[in-house]
Amino acid sequence: MFDLVLGTNNAKKLIELRMLLPEDQIQLTSLSEIPGSIDVDETGETFQENAALKASEQARHLERWVLAEDSGLSVDALQGRPGVYSARYAGVHGEDEANNDKVLDELRGVPPERRGAQFNCYLCLADPRGEIVLEDFGICRGRIAEERSGKGGFGYDPLFIIPEYHRTFGELDLAVKRAISHRSRALRRFIPKLMKVVAAHSV
Ligand code: IMP
Repeated sequence: MFDLVLGTNNAKKLIELRMLLPEDQIQLTSLSEIPGSIDVDETGETFQENAALKASEQARHLERWVLAEDSGLSVDALQGRPGVYSARYAGVHGEDEANNDKVLDELRGVPPERRGAQFNCYLCLADPRGEIVLEDFGICRGRIAEERSGKGGFGYDPLFIIPEYHRTFGELDLAVKRAISHRSRALRRFIPKLMKVVAAHSV
């Protein structure tokens, strides 16, 4: 088995990550199960920098392998905002309702054809010394709705329309999100490389 810490406290992200990682070969532990874990400040200017910070600082502190991700929404008409500030766009970390309201307000009057957006996800794996040994990313294109729809998912999911389905991630089944989301696309590119590391370091 390969011991891997998932470097996030977001319960919904954990569910999505766990669904896609092979738990028969990887023993997954989340940060909430580790009393000594630290809160890493997301001081980077890109998703990549923040994912690397979260993986390497936690790994160095715990002296364990850590897989971290940084993700967020980039809206074309807002020049890529909220971007790395997605979780705290309205000011307070994790206030999904206020963040959604702010995006809706900023896009008021913008027509559907100019409401394009994408979710981004960066993944970084750090070894127990804190060195980044693997990284990859995934994106998912969509459009921002004019109002919320659906109660599924988290964050900006009720606003994010998948054009092929004419539904938001908030309305779509988690199985659809699992097939097409930025996080699952990043993981699908990442897992073959991760499995080589797993094979080399399993005990
Ligand atoms: P962080 O990666 O913890 O900095 O936060 C990412 C933020 O981006 C979340 O709090 C959400 O607001 C947003 N986000 C990331 N992935 C998703 C997703 O799959 N659906 C909806 N919102 C997301």
